[in-house]
Amino acid sequence: MLVLERAPESARGGNSAYTGGAFRVAYDGEQDICRLVADLSADTLAQSDFGAYPASQFFDDLIEMSGMRADADLVEVLVNRSFDTLQWMRGQGVRFIPIHGRQSFLVDGKHKFWGGLTIEVSGGGAGLVDALFSRAQRQGVRIAYDHKMTELLVEDGAVCGVVAVHAGQVRQLRADAVVLAAGGYHANAEWRARYLGTNWDLAKVRGSRYNTGLAIQAALNQGARAAGHWTGCHSVFYDANAPEFGDPALLNQQKNYFNLGVVVNTLGERFVNEGENFRNYTYSRMGAAMLKQPGSRGWQIFEAQGAALLPDEYRVRHATRYQSDTLEGLVAQLEGVNKAQLLRTLREFNAAVDRSVPFNPAVLDGRSTRGLPIDKTHWALPLEQGPFVAFEVSCGITCTYAGLSITPQAQVLDEEGRTMPGLYAAGEMVGGLYYNKYPGGAGLTSGSVFGRIAGTQAALHGRAP
Ligand SMILES: Cc1cc2nc3c(=O)[nH]c(=O)nc-3n(C[C@H](O)[C@H](O)[C@H](O)COP(=O)(O)OP(=O)(O)OC[C@H]3O[C@@H](n4cnc5c(N)ncnc54)[C@H](O)[C@@H]3O)c2cc1C
Repeated sequence: MLVLERAPESARGGNSAYTGGAFRVAYDGEQDICRLVADLSADTLAQSDFGAYPASQFFDDLIEMSGMRADADLVEVLVNRSFDTLQWMRGQGVRFIPIHGRQSFLVDGKHKFWGGLTIEVSGGGAGLVDALFSRAQRQGVRIAYDHKMTELLVEDGAVCGVVAVHAGQVRQLRADAVVLAAGGYHANAEWRARYLGTNWDLAKVRGSRYNTGLAIQAALNQGARAAGHWTGCHSVFYDANAPEFGDPALLNQQKNYFNLGVVVNTLGERFVNEGENFRNYTYSRMGAAMLKQPGSRGWQIFEAQGAALLPDEYRVRHATRYQSDTLEGLVAQLEGVNKAQLLRTLREFNAAVDRSVPFNPAVLDGRSTRGLPIDKTHWALPLEQGPFVAFEVSCGITCTYAGLSITPQAQVLDEEGRTMPGLYAAGEMVGGLYYNKYPGGAGLTSGSVFGRIAGTQAALHGRAP
């Protein structure tokens, strides 16, 4: 078996290597978490409220968030195979741990998990990629780095290999079957402008620079059916200081805990309901909302109680950060904002908070503002108690939502709806799972579930049943 990796070895692993390693998985309670996570101590268990994330809820989240457009057959496989796929990965050397730091809040002395996202890989995306590459190499899989796949080889209607470019040389590589798992097109500025629209060529790329849609194009050229949401993508509030492409040394430039504060644009106005839902269910649309604002930049602003709950991604080096004991002092530091309007916006926000409802970040607390043009519907904390902090944000694109159409067995379909013999696909380049919205942690699970199925099918391809 041969794996072609477009990147050099030092940048291997695509977007997966840039992740926090969070996996969305269906589980029925603490006992299931213990089957995925090794060595959970009695103390950790006593201090954690993992709750449950039943398969039915995972399924409903994906279907409802897609506006009922998602391919229910694919969603069913993703959900129903999530737990056993992660167990299998554990057996392959991937070490899972609970995400106490980013996905739970301390309530009555226990870490209460709130967003259906409970486990991550030790060492994050880098830990995941290292574990899987090591395992593959121990199994005798050959890895060819700096190999860019550009075309599929097709003979007698069946896929029988690929064309790849290595060190300027074009090579034909023959194979019994081909699995495409080369990501979406988020790193291709021209495709972003073409499919996502105005100003998307200007978005910062959070992850790998190698996912430019080449493998999607190669399959489309052979008659594969396009699927998914071509004008949709996953994008987040991203630190204004972040580099143009993801940098493994500067991970965590996203700013995803906006639900604990307020967000304003350069006009000094709020433009989203920061508390619409848990951030896992809204964060992937925030980059797009930011991109549409004047100058595509803005600020997240927090008072003392919200700021104290912010996780590490707000403390990384290079993050923009402004602090003052007074709102006036904070606003004075923000460059390019309408300062008078911003102070008006914040005072109106404070006056609109319904203080009769207690603040609780671990549940949808219903503590809202009333009567604003855009109300904040949960976790509304008036900006009264300093120190106040602000972070300047822009739009960071994570990944795209479109590519090829596959069957639940990961076989690529052609425009007529027939399977393309010898061709399988998995991961970001599969269309049909996400439309407009995305529940955090679904991407790694999807890549793993369908990657495992595609690999199994490709290995069996051509063998007698
Ligand atoms: C910063 C960041 C954080 C994220 N955090 C999470 C998270 O915590 N949880 C989660 O579920 N999802 C997360 N995601 C989304 C997640 O990364 C993706 O959904 C998932 O990694 C996709 O896996 P994949 O195998 O499809 O693509 P990738 O992991 O991107 O792998 C694609 C591979 O194909 C290679 N390649 C590309 N083109 C070619 C070519 N032409 N020839 C040969 N090789 C090629 C690439 O170099 C790469 O190795 C995050 C994404 C980013 C950018």
